[in-house]
Amino acid sequence: MIPYPRADERSRMVEHQIRSRGITNPRVLEAMRNIPRHFFIPAPYDKSAYEDAPLPIGNGQTISQPYIVALMTELLDPYPEDRVLEIGAGSGYQAAILSMLVQHVTTIERIPAVAELARKNLEKLGLKDIDIIVGDGTRGYPEHAPFDGIIITAATPEIPQPLIDQLTVGGILVAPVGGREIQELITLSRNESGIVRSSHGGVRFVPLIGEYGWEET
Ligand code: SAH
Repeated sequence: MIPYPRADERSRMVEHQIRSRGITNPRVLEAMRNIPRHFFIPAPYDKSAYEDAPLPIGNGQTISQPYIVALMTELLDPYPEDRVLEIGAGSGYQAAILSMLVQHVTTIERIPAVAELARKNLEKLGLKDIDIIVGDGTRGYPEHAPFDGIIITAATPEIPQPLIDQLTVGGILVAPVGGREIQELITLSRNESGIVRSSHGGVRFVPLIGEYGWEET
């Protein structure tokens, strides 16, 4: 891949924000180095694209902090043959990172204008094998199920049961679970005998709004 502009800033981001906090998966670090985060952030905030923070993308939504994207991606343990579902496309950055690491990404976004922004951004990078669906992702996407990985990038009070049902045996789901303001990053791993749940620290996401998430206020 020809390096996109601002490659030095991305290298520094990976060293000082991501590797230094314990992310080690070399494929994840490489994807974070390659994908130009500033493509996914509208002006004027694109200038701050390689800072250690979430940023506004319009419609009251945000692009996640780079470290959190890297952490959730590493927790998903992505392999090239995997098929992954993302809930909450936002401007498409997490989907772009995933598409470098797995065979196919389906991403769902409830706000049509935000989904359109994701579509344009992913098209600009020529990224294929990503389906962007407009709708309520709390119901999952039975048409493409089951998934080897499911990542919810909005805060949910509980993990929606339809998503658990759409995970393969051996699959992993990553989600911020808790209140509307602060949450805990949770992974569920499905194996032959059931589900193993673990916690990976505190996070802050915008709310997941839908049938199995929060009500719109
Ligand atoms: N993954 C994004 C960050 C997303 S922010 C990134 O890579 O930066 C969370 C997104 O979830 C918002 O765009 C919001 O509109 C969307 N969202 C909230 N509830 C949803 C639902 N039920 N289904 C799909 N998308 C949802």
